[in-house]
Amino acid sequence: MDEPAQRAVRAVVPGRKAQPAPGLLVDRPFPGPEVDFVDPWLMLDHFGPERIAPGESGGLNPHPHRGFETVTLILEGAMEHQDSSGGRGLIEPGGVQWMTAASGIVHAEYRAPDLVRRGGTLHGVQLWLNLPRARKMDPPGYQDLPATRIPVVESRGARVRVIAGRHAGVQGPARSFTSVTLLHVMLDAGGSAALRLPEGHNALVYVVEGAAQVQARDVPARAMALFDGRGEAVALRAGQPAQLLVLAGEPIGEPVVSWGPFVMNTREEILQARDDYLAGRMGSLDTAV
Ligand code: MN
Repeated sequence: MDEPAQRAVRAVVPGRKAQPAPGLLVDRPFPGPEVDFVDPWLMLDHFGPERIAPGESGGLNPHPHRGFETVTLILEGAMEHQDSSGGRGLIEPGGVQWMTAASGIVHAEYRAPDLVRRGGTLHGVQLWLNLPRARKMDPPGYQDLPATRIPVVESRGARVRVIAGRHAGVQGPARSFTSVTLLHVMLDAGGSAALRLPEGHNALVYVVEGAAQVQARDVPARAMALFDGRGEAVALRAGQPAQLLVLAGEPIGEPVVSWGPFVMNTREEILQARDDYLAGRMGSLDTAV
């Protein structure tokens, strides 16, 4: 049997500190000075681990999105989500919320009430995933994917949680509009994992915690290894316990025009999004921390 061709690492890019909202500090490997986006993935924001004292509420007050999806993965602690369609839910450790903003939604993202009451640690990642032009004005919706719905593939000191796409014949539960892969990989000290990422899909590995070798390149915590598009096989290794995210996707290949919480194809569509939000056409939500 032919061995699949190896994927080469094109660059190792550190996360840069960013502050998407007052009081919210993140590490962001993209968008940034080195990499604008990794089509179809638009953003990776890594927040925490942050110690929260009892009574210390916080989060993002109501704000809109249009034209893409937000994917929020909670590693520790919990967040509460409320949106203008009446949706409300908790994202708990290991859980993912996959929100399709599409034509527009207004939502709030808060520390969960129980976390605020008792104090604790909040740690997670939010990804922005683009939608193709034909889907940007679809109705909004979201998928709650608690940890119990996410299959785990275990091998040689590695656990791979398959959130979207396939790994080792296992399909992740997330539905997406284009072909994407999202894996959450936990490596023990000395552990390794072999992946195959679809040829031609853009792909990266982000190190959440610990440090890893990606195709034998050292990647520190809070940095990403960005791959060339050719080849499929990727080897991950860790000398110490490590936690990684693997993102891949079929490039959409359309113009990306973004302004704050809106990601469209043209400047006119951005202005329309702003008008629609201000006129209340994305709904509204009356809450604040
Ligand atoms: Mn948001």
